[in-house]
Amino acid sequence: MAAGKKGHIVMIPFMAQGHIIPFLALARQIQQRTTSFTITIANTPLNIQYLRSSLSSPNEIHLAELPFNSTQHGLPPNIENTEKLPLTHIAKLFLSTLSLEAPLRSLISQITEQEGHPPLCIISDVFLGWVNNVAKTLGIRNLSFTTCGAYGTLAYISIWSNLPHRKTDSDEFHVPGFPQNYKFHRTQLHKFLRAADGTDEWSQFFIPQIALSIKSDGWICNTVEEIEPLGLHLLRNYLQLPVWNVGPLLPPVSLSGSKHRAGKEPGIALEACMEWLDLKDENSVVYISFGSQNTISASQMMALAEGLEESGISFIWVIRPPFGFDINREFIAEWLPKGFEERMRDTKRGLLVNKWGPQLEILSHSSTGAFLSHCGWNSVLESLSYGVPMIGWPLAAEQAYNVKMLVEEMGVAIELTRTVETVISGEQVKKVIEIAMEQEGKGKEMKEKANEIAAHMREAITEKGKEKGSSVRAMDDLVTTILSPNKAV
Ligand code: UDP
Repeated sequence: MAAGKKGHIVMIPFMAQGHIIPFLALARQIQQRTTSFTITIANTPLNIQYLRSSLSSPNEIHLAELPFNSTQHGLPPNIENTEKLPLTHIAKLFLSTLSLEAPLRSLISQITEQEGHPPLCIISDVFLGWVNNVAKTLGIRNLSFTTCGAYGTLAYISIWSNLPHRKTDSDEFHVPGFPQNYKFHRTQLHKFLRAADGTDEWSQFFIPQIALSIKSDGWICNTVEEIEPLGLHLLRNYLQLPVWNVGPLLPPVSLSGSKHRAGKEPGIALEACMEWLDLKDENSVVYISFGSQNTISASQMMALAEGLEESGISFIWVIRPPFGFDINREFIAEWLPKGFEERMRDTKRGLLVNKWGPQLEILSHSSTGAFLSHCGWNSVLESLSYGVPMIGWPLAAEQAYNVKMLVEEMGVAIELTRTVETVISGEQVKKVIEIAMEQEGKGKEMKEKANEIAAHMREAITEKGKEKGSSVRAMDDLVTTILSPNKAV
């Protein structure tokens, strides 16, 4: 540990972009508030490589590689992250994290030996409950970090812990932790969760891991008190633990824009994308992306293309191979209606981007009027922070609960459909996109509400003398807690 430091924080995210990016942002936030800590992010070698390329200077944050061999866990060679992993293998990736326990213990021993005392705190991903066992046996404080919002997190952990949909024949069910009149629907469950009975491989990972994370000393949540008052209130009640609302933790713009450029790499040059958007009117473009790992079915892709073309609205669409195709496969024209690509290019109506787009830059551009999204939490925060309303198409994880909250609590979204399993028509797509892009009525209302939320998000991270936003106060309190003696927080 460097001179003048009061202690070490070790952080360990789950191996997915949507988790690693907010962990890095959290580490940076803590460092900006105080120089008291040495921070080490631990992960598998390829994820550490990615993190290293994202640092602004080599010593900004310490990085520690935990040895990992993907093939030993039934994963393809050199795949250590969800980004290039078929959905059928995701459960294996979760289960493989259990093998990181021994390397993490070695890392902690090494730090303890070098510094004369153990780290002050381990901040671990909510999915990695096993870290709580490591921390408890070594007498170290353990905080769980959920990279999702409070409402979505509560729905997700409560459904996994209680499997309420298994206790009723009805399609609608109550989720413990939510008010009695809040109903969730079976179609909001990912198919693995819908089928979960406590004995399948998903249940065998999630049920014990969540139970362990609930035993940690507190939770950190990437959200803002003012935008999720209900979710935070319910989550605190359910966990009976401190929950620090430190969001929005967003990646620096350059991270999203510079990573994948044109050429052989998937993606598009940032400049080309911005030039295309510059040609468009304010709030006239729909941005479409399903995140870093999800994708829709081939027939849904056709319907989406037809609906977009019919609507006459301009769009940027980040295209990943449809469900059932190798996720690493290059783009082929057959996934879209005949001649679609050429027509969109020639008329400058649509910009098709291969696999990865500069999302933050697109969302921050004044031409972008709505975001058709799977509503992964990072995408939600990024969209709302620029006041961009959403068209929800949840595909996995807690995304359907995020959409429920965006529609019912915030009024900033409209839901198009759910999962890769539904059959949708071009007509449906056209209708929903047109509503969201309306300059009057519902579209206008959603835009106004999204702008209000953007203002709350800015206030939450603002600090003017003694006046501090809610997330700044939460971050101060978090740092004070980590520095306080390690007893129950
Ligand atoms: N992202 C991006 N370009 C893309 C797709 C995704 O920059 O083409 C980034 C996006 O800005 C966000 C993250 O990847 O920060 C996706 O996280 P999210 O929680 O929305 O979804 P996930 O990928 O975890 O399902």
